[in-house]
Amino acid sequence: MDKSQMKEKIKVYFRKNREVILKDVLALLKEMVAQKTVNVPSAKLGNFDYLTIRGEEWRVGDIVEREFRSWGMRYDVFSRMKGRPNVIGYVGRGEADAAKLFMACHMDIVPPGTGWNSDPFEMIEKDGVVYGRGVLDNKGPLVSAMMAARIMKQVIGDEGLQGELQIAGMSDEEAGDPDGIDYGVHYLMEEKLINPTFAIIPDIGENMQKIDVAEKGRMVVTVTAKGVQAHGSTPHLGVNAINKMAHFLVLLETYTLVHTPDPILGHCTVNVGEIHGGSAANSVPNECSVDIDIRIVPGQTPENVRSELKALSEKVADDFELALGNSSLPHAIDPDNVLVRSIQANARDFGLNPVPFGLGGGTFAKGMNQHGILAVAFGPGDDTAFHVANEYLPIDQLVTFAELTCLVTIDLVG
Ligand SMILES: [Zn+2]
Repeated sequence: MDKSQMKEKIKVYFRKNREVILKDVLALLKEMVAQKTVNVPSAKLGNFDYLTIRGEEWRVGDIVEREFRSWGMRYDVFSRMKGRPNVIGYVGRGEADAAKLFMACHMDIVPPGTGWNSDPFEMIEKDGVVYGRGVLDNKGPLVSAMMAARIMKQVIGDEGLQGELQIAGMSDEEAGDPDGIDYGVHYLMEEKLINPTFAIIPDIGENMQKIDVAEKGRMVVTVTAKGVQAHGSTPHLGVNAINKMAHFLVLLETYTLVHTPDPILGHCTVNVGEIHGGSAANSVPNECSVDIDIRIVPGQTPENVRSELKALSEKVADDFELALGNSSLPHAIDPDNVLVRSIQANARDFGLNPVPFGLGGGTFAKGMNQHGILAVAFGPGDDTAFHVANEYLPIDQLVTFAELTCLVTIDLVG
């Protein structure tokens, strides 16, 4: 059977079984949404009486494993710690030198927060749209990718694919601890537990109309101005750190960091997000600090930007301190590649026309590309429905995404 015959078989299957697939997707998603796999930093665990460890992704992992087993799929479970598994199911012969496509989904969710019109952990369906925490981010896309695997195995069979489709339900995407230890995709890559050629991360929304091929780097700089304390009635005897900071911030507001705008990512951005200083109105403050969030583009590095800001601060005073917090480098891939072309060509069958674009934030794609895996983010849902009350997803998109995943799999690993 050649690739076009395989694709035809898949299309016929979806056409004939759409209602059944939809029903199965909804049942599985409902079960997953009921699992409170909330991931927060350890310091906030006490706020959630239903959590004993961060994420508790095993609650969804058990369901993924059960389904893979019942579908007769090979799978692995990799866990850096008990209760936080990464479950990966495989379809295809997976020959050593053949390509492998990794569908990177996560099982953890952000806290439900307030403002819901219904119980966030009880999925409801209304007019073709499902609501519940995680329906979009990221349990819906996970279920959809799992369905693609089931159908590939059933319709094409392991023998039909020279390479491999790999479906991953991973832990630890939504929050981290200050120790930086990762229990999800970075753990899998560091320990060389996965070996994909390509990856799709269905975690950006954009209703399958955009393909994320570039992501800005992110850095946080804490700038501290130093002063000298004095009584508030004799300010001339001290040095006011808040005033020094004010001068620096005025300069910063109109300053442009040295960079070349990226064709996809555009300009770097600067946001002064937090300020702390002083202790009482009647005391001259001896310290004032701000946290600045900077999104950098290719060509910039966190260290260079830090030096540039230090030079800017020296126009005010030479004793500003600049500390670099967590940072990541930007990434951008040439959008003219086989993965993007396959997604675009197959999407046309559904009346979709996804175009490459870049993100100011980040997904798994950045780390995977930096590990030598050709990865893009692409998936169903509205980008405005992430991390908000009444998170929603049009269910039709889940079936479309499953079918699209099958077709791209045939192109890339068939
Ligand atoms: Zn997500």
